[in-house]
Amino acid sequence: MRTMGEGDSGSIVELLQHGLRRAGITKAVPDGSFGPNTAEHLRIFQRENGLKEDAICGPATWAVLYPYLIGTQMHVVKPGEKQAGIAGNAGIRVESLRAANPGLGTAEPEEGQVLKVPTPHPVVPDDIQMSFDLLNLLVDGLQARYPFVSVHTIGQSVMGRPIYRLTLGQGSTHCGYSAAHHANEWLTCTLVMKFLEQYAKGYAENSTFSGVPWSRLYHNYTLDILPLINPDGVDLVTDALAHSNPYWIEAKEIADAFPQLPFPNGWKANIRGVDLNLQYPASWEQAKEIKYKQGYDRPAPRDFVGEAPLTEPESIALAAYTKQADYDLILAYHSQGKLIFWKYKNYNPAGSYVLALRMQAVSGYIPMTTPDESANAGYKDWFIQEYNRPGYTIEVGTGSSPLPLEQFPEIYENNLGILLLGMIGLS
Ligand SMILES: [Zn+2]
Repeated sequence: MRTMGEGDSGSIVELLQHGLRRAGITKAVPDGSFGPNTAEHLRIFQRENGLKEDAICGPATWAVLYPYLIGTQMHVVKPGEKQAGIAGNAGIRVESLRAANPGLGTAEPEEGQVLKVPTPHPVVPDDIQMSFDLLNLLVDGLQARYPFVSVHTIGQSVMGRPIYRLTLGQGSTHCGYSAAHHANEWLTCTLVMKFLEQYAKGYAENSTFSGVPWSRLYHNYTLDILPLINPDGVDLVTDALAHSNPYWIEAKEIADAFPQLPFPNGWKANIRGVDLNLQYPASWEQAKEIKYKQGYDRPAPRDFVGEAPLTEPESIALAAYTKQADYDLILAYHSQGKLIFWKYKNYNPAGSYVLALRMQAVSGYIPMTTPDESANAGYKDWFIQEYNRPGYTIEVGTGSSPLPLEQFPEIYENNLGILLLGMIGLS
């Protein structure tokens, strides 16, 4: 985590403001701008926690903010304390306490025992920008509350960050939902993470959604969430990278050669200027011809297909893991357009169009065949070509990316049904 002080801005400042909010210092919605108010709130937090009162958020302050950011506190059981009392004091259900502490069962805890106690807030905030640091906290936070969520990495980004795979369920049908291939489409990462939280919570509490018990999904399906395929690019767009970072400087040089594209908001590529969703070996040569002609014949904020298919660590990792997983279905999340792309060339996987129509019925999104000039080299294209199984690119929201967070509640509402149908729609 970067050290932040007055005058700083971007998604890491939002993260700090979010932590101060969760710690109860302020109710203000994070705005990403470290001004006098944030400095004052930080001083109060530092005073209350015995930290140096300097209004600088450095390693010591981040460490004390950590439990608030992940949404789980460690609690040492006092004499005579019972599960119900601990949960009641924390404002949570006993089931949530037991889910976070699977060894506990229904037995009362012993004095001095250390328990993980979730806070009443959700782990995944939907009103701050995504960053790699935020995703790390969400992974820690979800795993603390729901230890049955298993965390893996499928590879590393150009900057060496892990590309996460979070897995829920134990069924024989295997589904993979990926998000944030494109840097300025980071909202899709929040979307799938929030869904993962709702699913894990529903399973822990033994509840149902639209009449479907979450436990039935858990037993019948194995769901992989690949929430952030392009962590470096997302950090570029949400201003999480220091401008002195050599990767930031190199990206800025790439962007300067394309002045028609806004920087950093127009950035879709990975950090070295390759568009990851034009990297897959499914008519890649065609994509190359089209995009080179459009002037994207070298590293660019978008639309550069690379020198060859699968040259980038992010696309290599996803293709390799997809082969290993042998998915029955994939959803690839992008923004924008409220569209469902379900086809590749003349491939027509069994049941694929019918399922697209069912997705339309629950979301209002429109099933589309991909226009010829963009029907190449995408992850979904490659998946359909390799396996002839249902694969969808879901385009969420309207307007240009990055979509404003104000759209998030509607996007989530629209996509809940699609995310469920990705599993149950196959049977
Ligand atoms: Zn996209």
